[in-house]
Amino acid sequence: MSQLVGLIGWRGMVGSVLIDRMMAEGDFELIEPLFFSTSNAGGTAPPQAKNETKLQDAYEIAALKRCEIIITAQGGDYTAEVFPKLRAAGWTGHWIDAASTLRMKDDAVIVLDPVNMPVIKNALGNGNTNWVGGNCTVSCMLMGVGALYKAGLVEWMSTQTYQAASGGGAQHMRELLTQYGTLHAEVKALLDNPTSAILEIDRMIVAKQRALTSDETANFTVPLGGSLIPWIDKDLGNGMSKEEWKGMAETNKILGLGEGFTAPAIPVDGYCVRVGAMRSHSQALTFKLNKDVPVADLEALIAADNDWVKLVPNNREDTMRDLTPVAVTGTMTIPVGRVRKLAMGPEYVGAFTVGDQLLWGAAEPLRRMLRILLDN
Ligand code: NAP
Repeated sequence: MSQLVGLIGWRGMVGSVLIDRMMAEGDFELIEPLFFSTSNAGGTAPPQAKNETKLQDAYEIAALKRCEIIITAQGGDYTAEVFPKLRAAGWTGHWIDAASTLRMKDDAVIVLDPVNMPVIKNALGNGNTNWVGGNCTVSCMLMGVGALYKAGLVEWMSTQTYQAASGGGAQHMRELLTQYGTLHAEVKALLDNPTSAILEIDRMIVAKQRALTSDETANFTVPLGGSLIPWIDKDLGNGMSKEEWKGMAETNKILGLGEGFTAPAIPVDGYCVRVGAMRSHSQALTFKLNKDVPVADLEALIAADNDWVKLVPNNREDTMRDLTPVAVTGTMTIPVGRVRKLAMGPEYVGAFTVGDQLLWGAAEPLRRMLRILLDN
């Protein structure tokens, strides 16, 4: 009989992408899904339901306890509230989660199997039951350049990110688009007149951006359309954002390095910036390698690492066509380009990568973990 798999958060940004991918890969043929809701318990489950056609209450421990596996993309507050109660009630099933709440716990493994299958297998063998998807930028980065880490070439890495509005969820995407619309409407008459003065348009746009109401900036709190925000997630109080902290902490945990492992951590640091892209996170990477390796060899290593990474030749035409959020969104491809030696010395290498943060950065590692459990 198929295992009962609970699905929570299936109608959110990550959840909808997850359901699409599970449909595309035939995952529902292998499981009996049980759909939960935090807002509509008793309502009708989506069409993927088989025998269990009513939405269950996502806060009802007894209903959750029925599941052998639970996948949640509901969010960190939900995990913080429900997970401890469920475990305290004696539930021993597998918990697969998109939220960051449990990621750094000793008894949780960050899942990104094309990069860390040995870490996952080892934990499975040790009876681990908590599986958490990594931070979206970290997962997309490792899908792109994980080969350099696996080859032991990285002394340190600095990353500067350009993260899309959708990283914040459905409401954030709507807010960005609404802002773009508001700004366009403000100067439409001047835009329609090809002889109007560009500085007048510019003056009106910045005045409108500064005048956006608290309703118009409810999610990002400041204007994002036509601007950027060099801070993502909480303020850790030491000059660092939580998103920046995750870069080093999660990269090393995924790779099985640092605290709790035998090999030392690799320094990873940089700045995380929200930009007005809709979907797909981009990042510029600077590597200090521990030896001088020719660019062609680095490119070959990167290209051979997994089925989804795509090396983009470092020229203008290929870069502009293939290395943008618009080119990548909705695809599983992780392009890596702009690979070149930097002026600081032969061990310093730059690269640029883009990934759909809702696919490899969120939904895909979760459904792949489900398949690993079903195959086990
Ligand atoms: P989201 O779009 O805000 O969805 C979360 C929940 O909000 C839904 O499951 C739904 O719960 C509820 N909801 C309320 N109004 C909704 C509406 N109009 N449309 C859809 N859902 C609505 O959040 P998310 O971006 O998917 O993030 C979920 C988790 O994944 C978070 O922990 C996040 O940190 C993590 N994550 C997100 C990304 C990303 O790029 N967005 C990447 C990696 C990880 P009910 O159906 O129960 O009402």
